Amino acid sequence: MRTESTPESSPESTAGTTGLIRFTNVSKRFGGTTVLENLCFSVDAGKHVTLIGPSGSGKTTILRMLMTLEKPDRGTIDVNGGRLFPADEKQRREVRKQIGMVFQQFNLFPNMSVLRNITEAPVKVLGLGRDEAVERARDLLDLVGLADRADARPSQLSGGQQQRVAIARALAMRPKVLLLDEVTSALDPELVAGVLDVLRDIARSTDITMLCVTHEMNFARDISDEVLMFDSGRVIEAGSPGKIFSEPEHERTREFLGAVL
Ligand code: ADP
Repeated sequence: MRTESTPESSPESTAGTTGLIRFTNVSKRFGGTTVLENLCFSVDAGKHVTLIGPSGSGKTTILRMLMTLEKPDRGTIDVNGGRLFPADEKQRREVRKQIGMVFQQFNLFPNMSVLRNITEAPVKVLGLGRDEAVERARDLLDLVGLADRADARPSQLSGGQQQRVAIARALAMRPKVLLLDEVTSALDPELVAGVLDVLRDIARSTDITMLCVTHEMNFARDISDEVLMFDSGRVIEAGSPGKIFSEPEHERTREFLGAVL
């Protein structure tokens, strides 16, 4: 990943230059509040990048823009060579198909079985045949350790299991990019490890590009190729987990890590 937030903060970066995800001069305001200003960064294909920083620093807004749930006021966002913003609705939909997201709240369809939750979008959006969608879903349930719960309803599962179904559901669309927004923060502490283990497996065994927002610093250290420290809508420091967690340069990063570690 390469970053340059504003001219006075252009942290060094360790990643290469392919740029599967590319933000260029992206600004976003909510009402009178500037949340992101002239944000530039790119994430290379296959990399796992984690955004850390205090609450309210704009991390989730970045993920929501990639999901087209928010629109930037200025700037461009490109994914895999296609323009997401600014773009017409048809093009945006095409680019958006390459991106999957797992939310803090699992957002499963409560009235559908686990299997149906996973097959619904591949059939409806990608036009996949039902048999193929079911086969894909069963493979993914295996991957997330829930092969025996295909017929259950979400309400019959623990929060950790529901989150693992949500991960399988996102992967069923075969996205190039997986966005993870605080995926363990709604879980009871004893259920966190199972979800993080599944994500570590996915990070290790697939070539998917991951962009994560998390307060789980051990997880960030474990899976990230690069960590970006945000403060007030700007990247103030970027680097390998080894550098950010062991030798942070910025006082604000040290303060933040001191409070959360
Ligand atoms: P983070 O993920 O770093 O906690 P967010 O991206 O969620 O930060 O939020 C950044 C700022 O934008 C916060 O001040 C938040 O209150 C504000 N914000 C986010 N979404 C909205 C919205 N839809 N309407 C108004 N303000 C919002």
